[in-house]
Amino acid sequence: MANRVINFNAGPSALPLPVLERAREELLDYAGTGMSIMEHSHRGKAYEAVHDEAIALVREHLGFGDSHEVLLQHGGAHHAFATVPMNLLAADRSADYVVTGHWGERAFDEAKTVGRARAAGPDLEGRYTRIPSQGDHRFDADAAYVHLTSNNTIEGTQYDAWPDTGAVPLVADMSSDFLWRRFDVQRFGLVYACAQKNVGPSGLTVVLVRRDVLARCRTDIPKVFRYGVHAENRSLYNTPPTFAIYLARETLRWIKGLGGLDAIEARNRTKSSTLYGAIDAAGGFYRCPVEPAARSHMNVVFRLPDEALEGRFVSACEKAGMVGVKGHRSVGGIRVSIYNAVSPDDVSTLADFMREFARTHG
Ligand SMILES: *Cc1c(COP(=O)(O)O)cnc(C)c1O
Repeated sequence: MANRVINFNAGPSALPLPVLERAREELLDYAGTGMSIMEHSHRGKAYEAVHDEAIALVREHLGFGDSHEVLLQHGGAHHAFATVPMNLLAADRSADYVVTGHWGERAFDEAKTVGRARAAGPDLEGRYTRIPSQGDHRFDADAAYVHLTSNNTIEGTQYDAWPDTGAVPLVADMSSDFLWRRFDVQRFGLVYACAQKNVGPSGLTVVLVRRDVLARCRTDIPKVFRYGVHAENRSLYNTPPTFAIYLARETLRWIKGLGGLDAIEARNRTKSSTLYGAIDAAGGFYRCPVEPAARSHMNVVFRLPDEALEGRFVSACEKAGMVGVKGHRSVGGIRVSIYNAVSPDDVSTLADFMREFARTHG
C-alpha cells in the first residue's frame, strides 16, 4: 500500500486498513447477495444481521450485558448535544455541565436552548489544560444529570477517573475516546460517541442509555428524537445509516481480532508514551501545554518554539507522508490524533521524525 499516507487526522480519522480492504472486496457483492450492503433494505436479513452484530459487539467489548440499551443514531455528536437535554431535561429541572473544552461549551450552549443548565465544574476561563478533580465541582443534588466530555479532542486533555455524582445520572460525550479502553459502563446513565474518531466513518453516533434513565425520558418531544422510540425499535424506527453501521461492525470485529479492548488499550498506551516521550526528551524544543495528569492518549497536542517553526513542522510532516498534524484553528500548534486505527509503527515513525526535526531546527 505504497500510496497510503500516515493519517493523524482528528476526525474523520484513520480507519483500519483491513476494514477498508474488506469493504472494497465486498462493495459490489456483499456475502454472495449480488449487491452492496448499501443497496440492501434495512428490513432485510442481510442488513439486520450486520446491525444486530454491531450492537452485540459493543456490548461484548464493554461487557455491560443488558443494563444499557445500545442505540445507533444519525446526526453526530451535535445531535446528542440536543437530544440529551430534549430527552433528559424535564421543565422543572436543571442539568449540570462540567465544561473542560470546546465541545463541552457546545453541549452546554445547546442544553441552554432546551431548558435550564448550569456550570458545575470550575471556571477554566477558556484555558483548557486540565481536568477538574472531585473537590473542584459544585454538583446540584437535584440535577437531571451531570454532563462531561471524557476526552477533549481539540485541547488534548482526558479524564482518567470519573467524578462521583451520587444518585444523579452521569452523561458523557465519549466521541473521541470511545472504545480506546475498557470502562465501567455502570457508572454512566448515558454515553454517546460519534463514530468518526474511533469506531467508523461519520454519519453514525453510538448511544448507550441505562434502562432507568430510558424509562424517565420525555415523551412530549417529536418521535424521531425520542430515545425510547429508537430503543423499542432496535434503532430501526427509521432507516439507519446502514453503510456507516456496516463499517463500524467491521471495525468492532477488527478490535476483537486484535484481542479486544485490553489489547487495544495496551497498544494505545504504547503509542501515547512513545509520543509524549519524544516531546519530553527534546530539551524544551517541544512543549505540551497540558498538565501531565490530564494528557490525552488520543489527541497529543504540543507547541514548537514559534509559529513559523510549527508551520515548517507541518509541511515537513506532509512531505514525509504524515498528514493531519496541524492543531485546531482555535488553539494553533500541533495536534496528533492517535486513535485505535493508528498503528504503533506509525507513531514510532513520527517520533523518529520529531527527533530529527528537533536536531536540525533546534
Ligand atoms: C468530534 C467531536 C464532536 C463533534 O462531532 P460531530 O459529529 O461533528 O457533531 C463532539 N464532541 C467531541 C468530544 C468530539 O471529538
